[in-house]
Amino acid sequence: MEFPSKLISDSVEVFSKLPGIGKKTALRLVLHLLNQPIEDVRDFGQTIIRMRESIKYCKKCHNISDGEVCSICSNRSRQKQLVCVVETLRDVLAIENTQNYRGIYHVLGGVISPLEGVGPEKLQISSLFERIQSGEITELIMALSPTMEGDTTVFYINKKLQEEQLDVKVTMLARGVSFGGELQYVDEVTLSRALATRLPYE
Ligand SMILES: [Zn+2]
Repeated sequence: MEFPSKLISDSVEVFSKLPGIGKKTALRLVLHLLNQPIEDVRDFGQTIIRMRESIKYCKKCHNISDGEVCSICSNRSRQKQLVCVVETLRDVLAIENTQNYRGIYHVLGGVISPLEGVGPEKLQISSLFERIQSGEITELIMALSPTMEGDTTVFYINKKLQEEQLDVKVTMLARGVSFGGELQYVDEVTLSRALATRLPYE
């Protein structure tokens, strides 16, 4: 696509780097912004910069947070002994959306994937074990994607728990989450049920 303005073509380029945004959609968004009052566009830009610059990660669970500890970890009505282990922030959002989970989380930041060079040391696994060793946790719900990588990660954590003789119950999400799928695409009802009917890991 040729544009009569480099300013426009640069903006289209920037927008089309976003996931799911092609050149056509990018152009539509740019032209939309072009028609908005300058204050609104300035606000738009500054909100994004502020988000990127100021966002923090919870020092306990690694969820996104505005402060040192996230709103879930600091919520007194949450069951602190029940920890749901997930890959990404998006999984936290998906499970929170079910409005049925009252425990807390641990965000690993991915799963073990030897092919992609992701070993346990690149994930938040040691901090998970620090939390377990502090003795507050009685159950880990492994809510990882049902893929080879997800399974490998569960296996690794479970083996390490046994090696370190840590007495924590490990459960898995139950029916409805098919092998090979990604957790964040599972609908709320299925995810809710999978959490409620979780099974012991064997
Ligand atoms: Zn937290």
